Amino acid sequence: MSTSADTTVAAPTTYEPVIGLEVHVQLLTASKIFCSCSTRFGAAPNTNVCPVCLGMPGALPVLNRKAVEFATLAAMALNCRINETSIFARKNYFYPDLPKGYQISQYDKPLAEHGFIEVGSDKKKIGITRVHLEEDAGKSLHEGFPDADKKTAIDLNRTGVPLIEIVSEPDIATPDEAYEYLTRLKEIILYTGVSDCNMEEGSLRCDANVSVRPRGRKELGTKAEIKNVNSFRFIREALIYEIKRQVEVIDAGGKIVQETRLYNSHEGKTYSMRSKEQAHDYRYFPEPDLLPLVVDEKWKAEITKTLPELPEARRARLVKEYGITEYDAQVLTVSKSLADQFEAAAKAAKNPKRVANLVQGELMGRLKARGAEIEQSPISMKGMAASADLVESGAISGKMLKDLYDLCFERNKDFPEVYDEEGRPQQSTDTSALEKIIDDIIAANPKQLEQYRAGKKTMLGFFVGQVMKASKGQANPQLVNELLIKKLE
Ligand code: ADP
Ligand code: ZN
Ligand code: MG
Repeated sequence: MSTSADTTVAAPTTYEPVIGLEVHVQLLTASKIFCSCSTRFGAAPNTNVCPVCLGMPGALPVLNRKAVEFATLAAMALNCRINETSIFARKNYFYPDLPKGYQISQYDKPLAEHGFIEVGSDKKKIGITRVHLEEDAGKSLHEGFPDADKKTAIDLNRTGVPLIEIVSEPDIATPDEAYEYLTRLKEIILYTGVSDCNMEEGSLRCDANVSVRPRGRKELGTKAEIKNVNSFRFIREALIYEIKRQVEVIDAGGKIVQETRLYNSHEGKTYSMRSKEQAHDYRYFPEPDLLPLVVDEKWKAEITKTLPELPEARRARLVKEYGITEYDAQVLTVSKSLADQFEAAAKAAKNPKRVANLVQGELMGRLKARGAEIEQSPISMKGMAASADLVESGAISGKMLKDLYDLCFERNKDFPEVYDEEGRPQQSTDTSALEKIIDDIIAANPKQLEQYRAGKKTMLGFFVGQVMKASKGQANPQLVNELLIKKLE
């Protein structure tokens, strides 16, 4: 009998990551946060500017009501408590794209606090520390103009565009969880309609803070902040790399320094940009040109009325109302517009549940085989409902339906169009024609008939199959069944 070895050697330390995310989201107002300039993306450089957003002396900011409503709506959707009074503050720093020399933001009294987002199947709550309003800075351009190799150009169209910053608690435990948090966050914001969350256009930007600590320890380790990562996938990759790097530094006896790092997606590595010693002291102070922002109960109630049903609640309701699975509800709610289309179509259909079943049973598989998302489906939700109705009324058989779906995918056309192109086929309910087919089939299969009559009732399935085949799938299966039983007995 062997005994276990003497365990005087300490087990190697295992580390757990701690992640907190700061997300900037551009609000879809028509005009900027403190002036009436347009927020339109893609305008010629420096055409959407005025003395206020250019920071001319004496020009005064006037707060955009819509920006406050959008920010409040988003904060509500993120389960935050809205502070009745919040304070704008100047965040001072020097940068060429910041003409005033300070950014108007909110500091110790933000618009909203104490929210959360639920992630994963166990609905883990990731805390949201705060949601605050601020203005965007301009953009430095390094290409696309004469002398671009020698000079940097500044486009101030984005200066003063309204943003919200959503700061999470350091509650995120893995890069996958960070990815999920961002996915849920984006989904919720999209449902509220306050932003298009377009990462390519910079409408959604994320900075990721990450540290590691020995598993089980309470205190947080020293964090690094990874800036300017332009996709959720890259954020996950950057975090994976950064966690590994930090563990290696510590295991080698080194110390993590608090710093800002940049992610290079080509190399899959993060690089130090500036350490804490070089970090800014923003010298925050209350903005003297703006009154405290007051969102009183009455205004809050008005904004609450514009809060739509949010993805999580909608998923739960779809599961209950249409009897679909959690997974399918997930797919059908990826965007509000898809969920709206599905529900409108399902409600208008004779049997909503059949629409849901066809979406999950027939559409999803075909999309998957093609590697396509549901938004790229050739068949619209309306088309799915129309097809469901045809089956419901007995006009076409399930087999015909499948063939028609195949044709939709082959031709990249919606169901009603393909159905017309095919001459609006109907399944055969012509009893005499069907009886003839059945008689032929029975006559051609005496052995099977004998077995059936000897008590092997499962032979019925064989006969149904033969008849359906002979009718090229056009026969009404129910009618086939009835007629067959009559003749076989
Ligand atoms: P800073 O003062 O550097 O901006 P904050 O305390 O404001 O830091 O936090 C910014 C973000 O970093 C938040 O999302 C927070 O959850 C996260 N964070 C703070 N400390 C840590 C840490 N030690 N490890 C990981 N994330 C952290
Ligand atoms: Zn302006
Ligand atoms: Mg901070």
